[in-house]
Amino acid sequence: VISLPCQYCGSRDAAEFAYIGERVMRPDPNSATPQEWRGYLYERRNPAGWTDELWFHRAGCGRYVAVSRNTVTGECRTTPGGGAAQSYVRRASERSDDDGRDGGGG
Ligand SMILES: [Zn+2]
Repeated sequence: VISLPCQYCGSRDAAEFAYIGERVMRPDPNSATPQEWRGYLYERRNPAGWTDELWFHRAGCGRYVAVSRNTVTGECRTTPGGGAAQSYVRRASERSDDDGRDGGGG
């Protein structure tokens, strides 16, 4: 069993979370080259060792949390500077425009 550290709820079973993916810094849209965009969209490091990831605590606080996970040992810890998850959340809400989530309860 893998336990993930949620900054808001504490350590919880990984089954409560949805895996979002590796944390990748978004390049500046005004200056990024096509190669940088391709790297941002498609290329992942997938290391054997420590990697920074985003998880969504779907069965808990409903927030995105940044986690460092060792893909070899399964060891997990809070990512230093986990506030980067906030920028991901902002982008995710921008993408959900046609989803109607912000349109009020239904
Ligand atoms: Zn949580």
